[in-house]
Amino acid sequence: MSNRRDFIKNAALGTLGFSTILSCENLVKEEELAPYHAIKTPKKPLIISTWNHGLPANEETWKQLKNGKSAIDAMEAGMRIPEADPKVRSVGYGGYPDREGKVTLDACIMDHNSNCGSVSYLQGIKHPISVAKKVMQNTPHVMLSGQGALQFTLSEGFKEENLLTAEAETDWKKWMEESKYKPVINMENHDTISMLVIDENGNISGSCTTSGAAWKMHGRVGDSPIIGAGLFLDNEVGAAAATGLGEAVIRTAGSAMVVELMRQGKSPLEACKEIVERIFTKHKNHKDMEYLQVGFIAINKNGEHAGYSLRSGFNYAVADAEYGNRMEDAKFKIAE
Ligand code: ASP
Repeated sequence: MSNRRDFIKNAALGTLGFSTILSCENLVKEEELAPYHAIKTPKKPLIISTWNHGLPANEETWKQLKNGKSAIDAMEAGMRIPEADPKVRSVGYGGYPDREGKVTLDACIMDHNSNCGSVSYLQGIKHPISVAKKVMQNTPHVMLSGQGALQFTLSEGFKEENLLTAEAETDWKKWMEESKYKPVINMENHDTISMLVIDENGNISGSCTTSGAAWKMHGRVGDSPIIGAGLFLDNEVGAAAATGLGEAVIRTAGSAMVVELMRQGKSPLEACKEIVERIFTKHKNHKDMEYLQVGFIAINKNGEHAGYSLRSGFNYAVADAEYGNRMEDAKFKIAE
């Protein structure tokens, strides 16, 4: 028999009502939100990460956490899976290049003490997430970029390699035939992996890694390595991370704003939705609106999680002890 306790339990696991409310614009009713706020004892650990490549990343992170690794080390191991996968066209090796045919990578990582490390515009290094971790642990800085980042990376013992696969090169050459910079956002060209974790101790950490927007201008850096834009967390409150058009996320300090709204008492879903609405409003008359897609994932200290995007089609992977590792569709504003 389904009762209020089940309802609350399901709500805590984020499985409540997804199929019934998926296609409505205004997705959350007040009475549905109340039980979310009531949950105080989350199941730990909890891992969420963007897009389908989040599944294998979650799986590895879960395994590492269970083997006693810290959340940072476990996340790093998880993120290295899509970074090394040549079939993932938006992250690491096999990622689509910029308009000059160069694969340039952005990544960041943040722990529950607000330590963070970030690397941007890195070339020839397969695992930027590991470099971001080294920046956090072995330098007095938060961000390293370009040539200096590469110099640091090599000094840490990483090896340079070619990240442009034959398949990505073929697609780039095809794009070159028209050579029209139009960053259409879809699964093929624009899917950062961002991951948020609550560990066994209830501490929150997060990370992002990406090859950024396909066919971007050479030198372009997106939101993903920018703490506050592509990723933000406050261990007292929760965490948020972004995917989609980085320029729009940077303009609105997206992830930091989601966390700030949660601090004010909004649930992860309410907070993500409000910031997506804000981005929509700010971009209504903007040249980027034609292809604008943004999505956020968020978790709070209570173990509630959510994903919300401007346009339909965004999903995220969730791993917890009760339901395992599975995909959930994010809610959205505009059905396409
Ligand atoms: N946000 C990333 C960027 O603009 C891309 C993505 O999410 O796929 O670089």
